[in-house]
Amino acid sequence: MSDFVVVVAGGGLVGSLSAVYFARRGYTVHVFEKRRDIRSEKHASGRSINLALSVRGLAGLAGAGVDQSIVETLIPMKGRMVHDTRGNLSSQPYGIFGECINSVDRKLVNEHLLTAAEKFPNLKLHFEHGIERCNFDAGEIVVSDANGTRRTVRADLIVGADGAFSRVRADLYRTVRGRFSQAFIDHGYVELTMPPTHSGEYAMDPTHLHIWPRQSFMMIALPNLDRSFTVTLFMPWAKFDAIKNERDLLEFFDKTFPDAVPLLGRTFLVQEYFKNTKGALATVKCSPYNYRDRVVIIGDAAHAMVPFYGQGMNCGFEDALVLDELFTKYFGPPAFDKPPAPGAKLDQPIERPTREKLQALLDEYSAKRNPDAEAICDLALNNYIEMRASVTHWSYLIRKNFEAV
Ligand code: FAD
Repeated sequence: MSDFVVVVAGGGLVGSLSAVYFARRGYTVHVFEKRRDIRSEKHASGRSINLALSVRGLAGLAGAGVDQSIVETLIPMKGRMVHDTRGNLSSQPYGIFGECINSVDRKLVNEHLLTAAEKFPNLKLHFEHGIERCNFDAGEIVVSDANGTRRTVRADLIVGADGAFSRVRADLYRTVRGRFSQAFIDHGYVELTMPPTHSGEYAMDPTHLHIWPRQSFMMIALPNLDRSFTVTLFMPWAKFDAIKNERDLLEFFDKTFPDAVPLLGRTFLVQEYFKNTKGALATVKCSPYNYRDRVVIIGDAAHAMVPFYGQGMNCGFEDALVLDELFTKYFGPPAFDKPPAPGAKLDQPIERPTREKLQALLDEYSAKRNPDAEAICDLALNNYIEMRASVTHWSYLIRKNFEAV
């Protein structure tokens, strides 16, 4: 194995996939994740329960050979099911050749990736270890454990995959003269559960992503493996503020989403709405993504986006793939396809990246990836208008019908 040390900050969706890519190269990989190991938790805390996984994200998983166990858990959604205010439904297929996006459980994907990463003898996962500070020039990071004990860790390369409020990114932009912006939108979200029916079936068609477009806001639902749906209501904060009690909530739902109310269940809806966290939504854009050969940021740390295009995770998985393709260009193919057996001998020694070549690689990554990532951030913002309003417009429906012919 190589003594070239890669430290991955964050063992979320993108950090755990990226760690697998680096472990395949035979480098020594340490992943520091500030939360507990989610595999020992009943529920994942934080953001959406399920996500739409697209071809882009699947390619990122396949490149690291970790797609198979995840593919088995996917629920394909072949189109949108639009619910009007009278409960009428209309199906809008995503394509004429059966193209689909897939509903997937966030916790399950993260667990699969952590388990795949841990199989490499050259990779170590450190849970309940938060990155506190990075000194890029010295190649050091300070981490603190659950007891608050700090230690300094050496890193030849730091990969910041520590999410939208990245600590690594904050230190990066104290070091480079870069561009950074963070913009919250005026809308928030809350997640609700639509349970299975009494007979244990899905309450709605599970082959669609359901949308209740209401012009200035919307509700959506994606199916889960346990036959429930996770329902997400996106709307302006002012509307959330106006719902102060049970009566306000039920009046609003009865008027706005009448067909969903019996499926959600009135009592359960009230309980969940007031209990569940209301989340904020922001776009993060920044450039460059690296500082010399010392650090690179990926995933939400580099380009957090609003969720309306369903591409945040997908784009992060693609980051890991694009970065690995550049490692192949500069340093050759990975040392292993899968975790090596204990004591296995390598055909060729593992090339230690030189600082010059690694800097060229990371500069190229940043220049190549930034315009694509920012384009997806913009598409994500625009798609909110498409989902909450345009899908009901006559010109959109005519276009869709032509496409479907
Ligand atoms: P995260 O998932 O945020 O993971 C970052 C990790 O870093 C976390 O585990 C965190 O604990 C850890 N961490 C943070 N700080 C530190 C530190 N200092 N030290 C150590 N560890 C640290 N994307 C899609 O592709 N499709 C969808 O359908 C979709 N739906 C979404 C719905 C909603 C409501 C939201 C909010 C987002 C959605 N997304 C979707 C976006 C997706 O959730 C993110 O793009 C994805 O989670 C990014 O992964 P990440 O690993 O970069 O960041």
